[in-house]
Amino acid sequence: MATSARAVNLNSFRKKVAVHKRRMRAFLTRTENKPPRGLDDMVKDIDREVWAEVDCLTCSNCCRKMTPTFTDGDVKRISKYLVMSPETFRERWLRLDRNGDWMNRSQPCQFLDIKTNMCSIYDVRPRDCAGFPHLTRRKMTDYMKWHRQNIEYCPATFKMVEKMMERMTILKKQAQ
Ligand code: SF4
Ligand code: SF4
Repeated sequence: MATSARAVNLNSFRKKVAVHKRRMRAFLTRTENKPPRGLDDMVKDIDREVWAEVDCLTCSNCCRKMTPTFTDGDVKRISKYLVMSPETFRERWLRLDRNGDWMNRSQPCQFLDIKTNMCSIYDVRPRDCAGFPHLTRRKMTDYMKWHRQNIEYCPATFKMVEKMMERMTILKKQAQ
């Protein structure tokens, strides 16, 4: 069967994570502490490259291995869509974490179709899902803590950090 150039290979992704995650996390921490000039513009540019190379419909690792945070607005909107009360929705699928946030009780997410990798509540999905993996949300440095976590789960985030490291190495060489 032919595979698209944008198809995600989760096996090779996991191997790469095991080898590179410590180095990447250290890089993100250094960049957070001392962001180079033009960082946000660089990341916007990299973001375009990343999505030309990654197809989420061949991955869905975030929906399988992580949980979104469900705000009260999310619960209201999704429960209405599913024609049930917010209380029933929370009872059936969610749990409170130690920070008082509502999270999925089990994984993969109950709304993921594991055969097609599609979200069955896509139009009303939690805002957290709609924005994930937050590559260009707000200032890059505001999301470093999440990127440090997400490189382990999200091939797009991993690729973004790889590309940042490559570009910064080139910039450093040019400055020498
Ligand atoms: S609600 Fe949809 S997008 Fe969000 S984790 Fe579940 S399946 Fe994925
Ligand atoms: S956002 Fe990341 S983890 Fe989620 S499907 Fe896309 S590449 Fe995979």
